[in-house]
Formats: sequence, structure tokens, C-alpha cells
Amino acid sequence: MEISQSLVCPCNNKLYKTAATFKAHQSSNIHIVWEYPQKIKDLEIRATRVENENGHLRRLNILLMEKIQSLEKTCP
Ligand SMILES: [Zn+2]
Repeated sequence: MEISQSLVCPCNNKLYKTAATFKAHQSSNIHIVWEYPQKIKDLEIRATRVENENGHLRRLNILLMEKIQSLEKTCP
């Protein structure tokens, strides 16, 4: 029964008897339209992570530049 559970699509809660029919459904317009908002949400989450990482790297860069400048001042 475990295998058939994985052939239930969450977009319509319909049980697909074979992997082939399930796959065919997944490439249908009805499924793609259902999936679209979830994909956008995933992309937004990934974009936020990248923005956060970018901000962290920018702060780190400023910190390192300040350290380099202070070292340059102390070296003859
Ligand atoms: Zn579906």
C-alpha cells in the first residue's frame, strides 16, 4: 500500500494506478497550474536566503577592508 500512497497527487487527491499515469498527470496543465504558486513560494524563499547571504558577505567584506586599512596604517 505504501507504493500506491505515493501515487496520490496532492493537487486533486486522486489515486493513480501506475507510475506512468501519475507521471502523465504531473505533466498535465491542471497539475502544472496547481504547482505554480508553490514553485513561486520556493523561489521567494531561495531568493530571501541568497539576499541574506549577500548581506552577510557585504558586512564581512566591510569588516575585512577595515582590518586591512588599520593594518596598513600600523605597518611602516
Ligand atoms: Zn497533480
